[in-house]
Amino acid sequence: MRWWGWGDAAHPTALPGHALAFLRETVGLAPRARPPVALANVRLGSSTLGEVTLARLRSILGVDGVRDEHAERVLHAAGKGYPDLVRMRAGEPEGAPDAVLYPAGHEQLRALFELCAQRSLALVPFGGGTSVVGGVAPLRGEHAGVLALDTSRMAGVLELDAQSATVTVGAGTRAPALERHLAARGLTLGHFPQSFEYVSLGGCAATRSAGQASSGYGAIERLVLGLRLAAPAAELELKALPASAAGPDLRQLVVGSEGTLGVISELSLRVRPAPRERVYEGVFFEDFAAGVQTLRALAREHALAEVVRLSDRQETRVSLALAGLGAVKGRLGRAYLALRGMRAGCLAILGFEGAGEELACRRRRALSLVRDGGGLAVGRSPGEAWLRGRFSAPYLRDELLTHGVMVETLETACQWSELPRLHRSVGAAIAGALDRCGTPGLVMCHVSHVYDSGASLYFTLIARQREGDEIGQWRAVKDAAGEAILAGAGTITHHHGVGRDHAPWLAREIGEGGVAALAALKAELDPAGIMNPGKLLFRG
Ligand SMILES: Cc1cc2nc3c(=O)[nH]c(=O)nc-3n(C[C@H](O)[C@H](O)[C@H](O)COP(=O)(O)OP(=O)(O)OC[C@H]3O[C@@H](n4cnc5c(N)ncnc54)[C@H](O)[C@@H]3O)c2cc1C
Repeated sequence: MRWWGWGDAAHPTALPGHALAFLRETVGLAPRARPPVALANVRLGSSTLGEVTLARLRSILGVDGVRDEHAERVLHAAGKGYPDLVRMRAGEPEGAPDAVLYPAGHEQLRALFELCAQRSLALVPFGGGTSVVGGVAPLRGEHAGVLALDTSRMAGVLELDAQSATVTVGAGTRAPALERHLAARGLTLGHFPQSFEYVSLGGCAATRSAGQASSGYGAIERLVLGLRLAAPAAELELKALPASAAGPDLRQLVVGSEGTLGVISELSLRVRPAPRERVYEGVFFEDFAAGVQTLRALAREHALAEVVRLSDRQETRVSLALAGLGAVKGRLGRAYLALRGMRAGCLAILGFEGAGEELACRRRRALSLVRDGGGLAVGRSPGEAWLRGRFSAPYLRDELLTHGVMVETLETACQWSELPRLHRSVGAAIAGALDRCGTPGLVMCHVSHVYDSGASLYFTLIARQREGDEIGQWRAVKDAAGEAILAGAGTITHHHGVGRDHAPWLAREIGEGGVAALAALKAELDPAGIMNPGKLLFRG
């Protein structure tokens, strides 16, 4: 993973000429390219760990289980949110872990917790490091030091129960490795966040992540059936069960705990037969409201596709412009031109996965509801183009930053009855904040996770960076959006999690009583407060 951005260094990042021309015209580009600094020029404070503590850590984890060289500390200094990347590219991360630890299992974790509590060292669990809400920021809080706890040695498939369709994995297992293992056996987990290439399953569970196909397979909280949590003062071993009435579901307290209670070391997950057929296609609606009504009908009539994404007019316009209409030629191109007669349109992608009659029937029912809702099916090319490029946006983000363009995303969810209003109010809040910064931008949105009672809204904004005050500009947008979300009956986060960035809003969403209950649980499991301080429960 590039320390300053996304993906493998070998992966090419280049925006096509037409995309650059569109951005130059709409938001403006920096006069000169702004590449990241060299790794050696990233400024880190020196590690505060003394030789005695390092020796104790090495006696627990082995020499190669404790790393404190510059490159390791840089790689674990931040996640992959916009402010993380801005700071890293400038060579000025907010901080860095004093060392990076690679525990291999429970015995080592137990010994580590004891040492860290004694010496007041904070531990930040680090899976894929793809958090976009400051979840892996190396904050030490009141502690004398801070250590990144990389879970990559707690990886691998431990058990596959084909009869029950469950798999048990080490929490550091990366999503692609699990999918490869399952695919060889005709199975899938069906969890494909856009960050799929790098996420760990433990990180996904710790953040209540949702994959792009969550409308069909369910988000991670529906896939976790059992887990093990190693906490400083206890261990929770919650076996895989299809259902249980044995009190409140402790699994669901650990799912979403963001490393603040302890380290999830193992997970038992529900798997499905891998789809034998995939039909990904495009549908146009004249406006967002018609599309939203149709998605609601699909959910109500049990006719949802696995992947359901409805872009608003602005997102449709910008996506087509950035792709160049050549990439979506044929029926879509013609339909788009026809729709220009209606002035604009909203593109939806429906991705059906399954096999045989069940898939065919569900798709027929869905397309009939689309027609009833005034939608126009435009064939497979947009769906297939989306499927091919589903993991490529993070690479483009790096390229945009090089051109001095801010690109940020934020998300929420609400009931169907509130959705049109929330779409308008959050979009307006973001646009207003960008205007006040003197950098008017493109604000767009899509619905991407659909439920019986409501759906998520995922906003993307693109604007020229306010050079020298990139973080102030980001803060202004984030604050405006957060306020609009909570004023408008949304959740502060549908799937990115709370981390540090959303923590100031948590009490307004779950109430002071809710925060106190979570704090009491943390005090029980982590009495010295060493687990991921400053995240989730931090009050600002
Ligand atoms: C480009 C991009 C696209 C993204 N797309 C999506 C998306 O489609 N859907 C989505 O839900 N999210 C998405 N995200 C956000 C991010 O990928 C998710 O939050 C993901 O679940 C994080 O997994 P990770 O392994 O990288 O966790 P990390 O970033 O390493 O950690 C996230 C949090 O979990 C804690 N943690 C990690 N592992 C453990 C463990 N074993 N035990 C206890 N705590 C742990 C960390 O301390 C931290 O608080 C995206 C991020 C990026 C950068």
